[in-house]
Amino acid sequence: MLGVVVLVSGTLTAVFYVYSRQSLEKQTKENILQQFDMIGYHFRYELRNSLVNNLQLLSSNPSLDEFLMSSEIEREIAARSVERFFLESLKFDGSYESISFIGQEGVEAIKVDRSGRVRSYRNLSNRPLFDRIKRGSPGRIDVENPTVDAGGNVFFSAGIFKTDSDIGKFGGAVVITYNLKRFVEYLDRIRIFDENPLWLFTPDGTVVKKPDNRRALFDPRPYLVPGHQKEPLLVMVDGGMLIYQDLYINAGSPLLRLAVSIPSSLLLKDMQKVLQFFLFVALFSLLVISALAYSLAGYLSRPLTEIDQAASHLAKGDLSTRVQRTSSGEVQLLINSFNRMGEELEKTTVSKEYMDNIISSMRDALVVASPAGIISRINMAASFLLEYGEAELVGQPLSRVIQEAPGAVTTTLDTVLQNNSLSTVEKTFRTRSDRKIPVLFSASVMRDKENRIQGIVCVAQDITLRKRTEAKLRAYSDDLQEINEELKNFAYIISHDMRAPLVNIKGFSEELSRSLQEINPCFQKHLPMLEAAERETIAPILTKDVPEALAFIMSSVSRMDNLINAVLRLSRAGRRKLIPETVSVHDLVQNILRSLGHQIGSRHICVAVDVMPDVVADKMALEQVFGNLIDNAVKYLDPGRNGELNLSAVRNEGEIIFHVRDNGRGIAQEDIPKIFEIFRRVGRQDVPGEGMGLAYVKTLVRLQGGRIWCESEIGRGTTFSFTLPQPIRTNYHHPEREDGV
Ligand code: ADP
Repeated sequence: MLGVVVLVSGTLTAVFYVYSRQSLEKQTKENILQQFDMIGYHFRYELRNSLVNNLQLLSSNPSLDEFLMSSEIEREIAARSVERFFLESLKFDGSYESISFIGQEGVEAIKVDRSGRVRSYRNLSNRPLFDRIKRGSPGRIDVENPTVDAGGNVFFSAGIFKTDSDIGKFGGAVVITYNLKRFVEYLDRIRIFDENPLWLFTPDGTVVKKPDNRRALFDPRPYLVPGHQKEPLLVMVDGGMLIYQDLYINAGSPLLRLAVSIPSSLLLKDMQKVLQFFLFVALFSLLVISALAYSLAGYLSRPLTEIDQAASHLAKGDLSTRVQRTSSGEVQLLINSFNRMGEELEKTTVSKEYMDNIISSMRDALVVASPAGIISRINMAASFLLEYGEAELVGQPLSRVIQEAPGAVTTTLDTVLQNNSLSTVEKTFRTRSDRKIPVLFSASVMRDKENRIQGIVCVAQDITLRKRTEAKLRAYSDDLQEINEELKNFAYIISHDMRAPLVNIKGFSEELSRSLQEINPCFQKHLPMLEAAERETIAPILTKDVPEALAFIMSSVSRMDNLINAVLRLSRAGRRKLIPETVSVHDLVQNILRSLGHQIGSRHICVAVDVMPDVVADKMALEQVFGNLIDNAVKYLDPGRNGELNLSAVRNEGEIIFHVRDNGRGIAQEDIPKIFEIFRRVGRQDVPGEGMGLAYVKTLVRLQGGRIWCESEIGRGTTFSFTLPQPIRTNYHHPEREDGV
């Protein structure tokens, strides 16, 4: 920023400098030219014109004519008169040093100076001035080059051709010796840049006046070009600026050469002031801006420094780091963004420490390996499981701990690399003490942003216990299977074999009953022959007790037979192989209802059957299930109201649910679990039954992979529901498979 300020102010200063210098130079030129004009004007009017006028006046004065025309005797008087006139003129202009009249031969005839009349006359016939005047024309003025005397006074003489009116020829010349002191004084008063940088030269180059101050001393002589210079000439030279001009009394030969030489130092004096001002302003603004920049930088950098520090804390994992300082504008926005980022990071990023904690507290064994299968890290659980310290395993190949299955074609590492991951497969870990530990192994390939493989993360769960339990369970299951088979056989054998003695009891009881009926007429015939006491004892035995006992035996046997039949049926059902086929439940239900048509009609039962689907099931089993449920529904209707029977089916995910609903007498809630038990009957026993139906139904439903349950309310009705998996899942017998198709 400071650099920019310096650059801008420097450029501005340079531009101002150049611009100001140019305008200053222009102004200076104009100024000097103006001064030149004024000097020229002064010279022309104050000096030349007055000199010319006076010369003309002096030469045309009648007293001078009289002098010329006077005789020898009168000449002295006439001379006096001219002298008086000359003296008056001398007083009139302070610069006139002397006025003289030079006769035809070039000898002074009359002369006055500041002291009065002069009696020593010079012979000026040899002077070029006189020569020039003499060879000139009447009224012509000639000027002699100025001379400088020992006292530093500058004089020049100017004379005018005087015609002798008697002869009409050259009669002499009036010559004024002019002291340039006043002109020089006038020049001394002129100020340019507070100095007087004026030079005055005679035509032969003698210095008449030069600047007295050294500062303004810049000798223009080397630059002055020979020849006349009527108009001011401005020359820019190395040392500064130079303007010069010749001053003329009469055209043709210059009297003086005026020069103004301004050294660069002077020329740039004002410029330097401007420059100094600019430098001062630039410096001042630089200072102000520096101070501002410093405080601004401080103001801005303090929060930025704090953000920087907070960022390095954050980078080290301290995610709770926040910037406390408040600021304004964009910096505050930056602080807010930083703090927000920290919060987000804290929420979303898991710190290394946190990560390490997770890894070390994992109960599963974790092994991280390089793509080449070299272990780079293990956690505590792995260390514990494998009986190695982390340092011992790091750098070792994975094959050190993973025991490949005998005959395995690809290694676990290759499988993971090929498939990118491996999920919950059983593997064997080999410990330091060469124990084989079954593990549930999962692995995944870690990739970086460029999708290059960084490593492999393996997680293993020790399943030794599970394996043991599984083995135990398998053993139990096998035992159970065996027991079950035995039980089934037992039930079958019992029921089957028990029937034989039962048939005997039943047969012989009937035989006894028939025999009793046969001997009864004979007994009645001989009864009166018995004594009264015998008759009273025997008669009730034969007519009442024995027939009654026989009736009991027969009813018990019959009941026993029913029970055995039921057990046999159940046992057969369990042993029967289910055969799947497509069954129209609608037709099946209609057949059952038809077979119950008499009861349904006589008891005014209202039957409603919803749309029934076709299912794949064992048809006979399904008939038994629906038969029992519909039979029960009809059987346990309430005689006090018209019966209602409703059958419906609902398709559920992977199964069909059938509902058989009635408005019968209902089952008490506590009895519901009992009704599916073998030989269990609940409620009033006013309807015949063995309590086997629902046990049978339950077995058939279970064998087909379904479930059965009951919802009921006393006095309102009962709904039996059962499911059939669709498609079928278990326990079915596939004859075609047995046939090897
Ligand atoms: P059973 O009908 O031969 O007694 P089940 O095993 O078929 O034997 O039924 C067991 C008991 O469940 C029955 O004794 C009866 O009390 C009750 N029960 C079964 N179905 C119904 C029903 N639809 N309404 C009321 N009670 C029922």
